Amino acid sequence: MATPRKVLIIGGGISGLATAYHLSELARQGSFPLEITLLESKPRFGGVIETRSREGFLLEGGPDSFISEKPAALELSRRLGMVQEVIGTNEKFRRSFIYKKGRLVQVPEGFYLIAPSQINAFIRTPLLSWATKFRMGCELFIPKRLGGGDESVASFVRRRFGENTLREVAQPMIGGIYTADPEYLSLEATMPQFLEMERTYGSVIRGLFARKKHGKKNSSRAASGPRYSLFLSYRQGMEQLTRTIVSQLPEVRFKVSSAVMELKHSGRWEVMTQQGEKFSADAVCLALPAQPAARLLGEVAPSLARDLAAIPYESVATVNCAYRRTDIPHSLEGFGFVVPAFTQRKIVACSFSSVKFAGRAPEGMVLLRAFVGGALHREVYALEDDAMVRTVTEELRHYLGVETRPVFTSVSRYPQTMPQYQVGHLHHVASIRSQLAAFPGLYLAGNAYNGIGVPDCIKSAEFAASAIVKHIQPELAHRNVSVAEKS
Ligand SMILES: Cc1cc2nc3c(=O)[nH]c(=O)nc-3n(C[C@H](O)[C@H](O)[C@H](O)COP(=O)(O)OP(=O)(O)OC[C@H]3O[C@@H](n4cnc5c(N)ncnc54)[C@H](O)[C@@H]3O)c2cc1C
Repeated sequence: MATPRKVLIIGGGISGLATAYHLSELARQGSFPLEITLLESKPRFGGVIETRSREGFLLEGGPDSFISEKPAALELSRRLGMVQEVIGTNEKFRRSFIYKKGRLVQVPEGFYLIAPSQINAFIRTPLLSWATKFRMGCELFIPKRLGGGDESVASFVRRRFGENTLREVAQPMIGGIYTADPEYLSLEATMPQFLEMERTYGSVIRGLFARKKHGKKNSSRAASGPRYSLFLSYRQGMEQLTRTIVSQLPEVRFKVSSAVMELKHSGRWEVMTQQGEKFSADAVCLALPAQPAARLLGEVAPSLARDLAAIPYESVATVNCAYRRTDIPHSLEGFGFVVPAFTQRKIVACSFSSVKFAGRAPEGMVLLRAFVGGALHREVYALEDDAMVRTVTEELRHYLGVETRPVFTSVSRYPQTMPQYQVGHLHHVASIRSQLAAFPGLYLAGNAYNGIGVPDCIKSAEFAASAIVKHIQPELAHRNVSVAEKS
């Protein structure tokens, strides 16, 4: 029997766990022995994926859903045998709102982040003034940008749709996803579909209509705002995914409360934890945000570490608020709302969690979840918990008319967890990848590189796992085991 090769995974969020899972799959498929150890600094696995039950409510601290349009998460759920646990959003209320002049206005049907794809709904909507609608319509005639190169989301939207579309619609809708300032956000790295539409059709609106015509846009007809029909979760919340991965890998050595403090390379990869434990392996995968990855690589790969450290991150928090239904005058017939930053209000967005997904609140109760912080609201993230809760409940009073105090609230903080894909991000990532090639056995996975969503993280993990197998079992590249290049 061959001596097992050893792999170390550092970080027990979805990226690290999905790396472990795919490595195990490949080892089983290739029938080779593999010793996998996963080290997580916190006392629990899941990273920012964090679901808690309280008084009959199901509270999501971090992500509350994933998109099926990027198939990696749904595919993984299938392989885990938990597809029957996947739930969709409430079909009755697939719409969202944007805050405008003291009230919540529905996003018109067919509106896709920055542009309309249904004429009637667009013309009728009170969300946009006639002047803004006219300017948006002019997008059809605006010539495409000559020359390549990345550009910011703000510059693209301003150029094609005008300032008001940026301020009133694009910033809050896209900002809500990336908690970023669109003035710096890379279009190429975050919304490449719009760039492609401009290049192919000469217009985003024309591109959206063409996609619809060709049946590529398979969202529900009644949907408005983000394509909610494509948003999925699990019956017991997002943490059901990470718990299931851990429970299905008895062969993996999982260690919590093991913060890696040092990484060395002397033929093999060696790490030391804060608790003084040492591990060595043939390959190591840093499934971490870029900043802690940079700290670990400071001595081994200083230039790579500098490039990783240059990826900025923002901190975000969510405040779950439980209410009695009768205490909220608003109809809550939607999945939530986003708030434009120019209005100088205090929250980024709010989900009507118990309307969006079943099983999130007991009968007669409602669960709302406010999103705070990010690049444009750092001062709110900086508040102490009590002050943050006061600010959020005061804001909810303004938007929804709720005068009573919540039955309970719960604050979840995620410091420095949201990477900001700035203009030139993809070029920067390509440089990181090319430097990585000089360190055989070193791999990166996570949300810093090619997408921040849960499916993106799973995809990055599966690439890392495939590349690790190619490194430690090169002969498998010629057999039927699917191994990918370092990516
Ligand atoms: C509030 C919030 C809401 C979100 N909403 C959505 C959503 O609805 N849908 C969606 O698709 N995505 C969403 N995202 C994004 C997505 O959840 C994350 O990008 C993804 O979960 C990150 O996973 P990860 O494993 O790469 O990183 P993390 O979850 O950050 O995991 C990294 C792990 O590494 C550990 N670690 C750090 N340093 C060390 C060390 N030295 N040694 C050992 N371990 C270490 C950390 O403790 C952590 O557990 C959201 C993110 C946040 C914060």
